[in-house]
Amino acid sequence: MPERRYSAEVVIAGGGIAGIVTALELLDRGRRVLLLDRDTEERFGGLAKESFGGIFMVGTPEQHRLGIRDDPELALADWRSVARFDPEDRWPRRWAEAYVERSLEDIHGWLRQRGVGFFPMVHWVERGLFRPGNSVPRFHMVWGTGHGLIEALAGRLLEHRSRDRLRLLFGHRVERFESEGGRIAACSGVTEEDGEPFEARGDAFVVAAGGICGSLEKLHANWYRPWGTPPPVILNGAHRYGDGKLHDAVAELGGGLTHLDLQWHYAAGVHHPRPDRERHGISLVPPKSALWMDAEGRRFGPMPLITAYDTRHLVETICRSPHQYSWQVLNWKIAVKELAVSGSEFNDSIRDKKVLAFLKDVLLGNPRLVRDLVDHCEDFVVADTVEELAARMNALTGEDLVDPETLEREIRAYDDTILRGPKLHNDEQLRRITHCRQWRGDRARTCAFQPILDPKARPLIAIREFILARKSLGGIVTDLESRVLDRQERPIPGLYAVGEAAGFGGGGSHGRGALEGTFLGSCILTAQSAARSMTDG
Ligand SMILES: Cc1cc2nc3c(=O)[nH]c(=O)nc-3n(C[C@H](O)[C@H](O)[C@H](O)COP(=O)(O)OP(=O)(O)OC[C@H]3O[C@@H](n4cnc5c(N)ncnc54)[C@H](O)[C@@H]3O)c2cc1C
Repeated sequence: MPERRYSAEVVIAGGGIAGIVTALELLDRGRRVLLLDRDTEERFGGLAKESFGGIFMVGTPEQHRLGIRDDPELALADWRSVARFDPEDRWPRRWAEAYVERSLEDIHGWLRQRGVGFFPMVHWVERGLFRPGNSVPRFHMVWGTGHGLIEALAGRLLEHRSRDRLRLLFGHRVERFESEGGRIAACSGVTEEDGEPFEARGDAFVVAAGGICGSLEKLHANWYRPWGTPPPVILNGAHRYGDGKLHDAVAELGGGLTHLDLQWHYAAGVHHPRPDRERHGISLVPPKSALWMDAEGRRFGPMPLITAYDTRHLVETICRSPHQYSWQVLNWKIAVKELAVSGSEFNDSIRDKKVLAFLKDVLLGNPRLVRDLVDHCEDFVVADTVEELAARMNALTGEDLVDPETLEREIRAYDDTILRGPKLHNDEQLRRITHCRQWRGDRARTCAFQPILDPKARPLIAIREFILARKSLGGIVTDLESRVLDRQERPIPGLYAVGEAAGFGGGGSHGRGALEGTFLGSCILTAQSAARSMTDG
């Protein structure tokens, strides 16, 4: 019997946003809660704290003010279009329906009541390429990014009127759950620091331990086979403890796991300039005016790659290309105006709520960011001529894959199309740039048809981009109350799963693809449902 023994009415494994919201809702209802997290206290909040803080919501006042008419029916049609659910995806479908119905009250209203504010501009991401995506803008940025979101929610938790009913223990790794008399009655594990065993007993247990994408082993084992073999380099944009070990523990109890091969990766990953975990990557918001090229310096085509339409298509195209990584070729002017990085770390003006600095970044671009990445990220190369650029690209990879003449020909063909004038822009990338610039949220951050070789816009920049693993779309199967279901779809008494661990609800509420911003929102909804199920019956 371990010396460290704890007890509470509800034990939560994982202190990301899903765990925090579960705890908040339980405290609101007077429950005694123990929250165990492997990580250190500074990282309380998990991935949400690092996140951009974009949240998909439907029919909000922000949309209304911008003249966007949206409703759950339209949003559900868009969701289903990108999800492409399998016929047997009963719970994932129901979670998708629940999301679009509940987002206004249970995400927007709930967060507003807890002091979270949103940016007035709603962004338009995942617009759809070969099938409909977001018909209208729905990506609402939290003022303060994910950092501000967690600051608000964790702050509420720590100052809760029932704070004495909450115990937070960091450095505690939960490893298994114990069943007694057909009900989960305890969990056990070890402390990170000294490997000391502990046991926690309770009436209910919540798995809020995130996804599986932090483990290369799990990624390889669950790689989506239609895309061929996994790329030799996959950067880690997920949680360092997102190893899926608690998924395995749930499976040992008979809990269902589904769709682990459906993951939401990004196509423009580069090495973190200051890594703090193995293969640590950051996800660039890829400049729309850059040329996206394969490892040999040939532009992807016939449909050129451009962001804002279909992330899964970008990832799939690169995974199917011979070397499974890509280049974006651009110039300094484009980089300053368009380059951004997803997450709170590289968006300090929004994170720190500095209005003037933010407006300056939008209007004048962000040279600080470009300078930082050029100086400190190993995947950026800079040169004055195409020949020199190709030589540096080859030096970086250690392979002579990029032929300078081919590279120059590809760039010139694109530039020549631009120079013929907008009426003759017979190029899919330019048509999409036109479309993006029609929405105010994108206009300020998208160049008006900038030729790459423009001498006034140099130096030239090439960015080597890898697939970056981020979110697990599949996971532990749950019902609409976030109760873990066994393989016969019966609830396992006393066991719940929320957030990314539950494939964001039902074991895969996104199906094959996401409309973006749905991850944070789903963490909130699944957590609320678990807490309400435990307390309201
Ligand atoms: C840079 C970045 C930008 C993003 N931007 C957005 C965005 O704009 N919009 C959006 O919707 N989503 C975004 N996301 C995704 C979103 O942040 C995550 O999907 C979400 O926060 C997952 O929350 P979670 O609570 O389920 O899991 P996590 O945040 O992964 O938290 C899991 C917690 O469980 C702990 N844990 C793991 N294993 C154990 C164990 N065995 N025992 C105890 N504790 C354990 C971990 O230490 C961690 O604290 C972004 C993510 C990143 C990294």
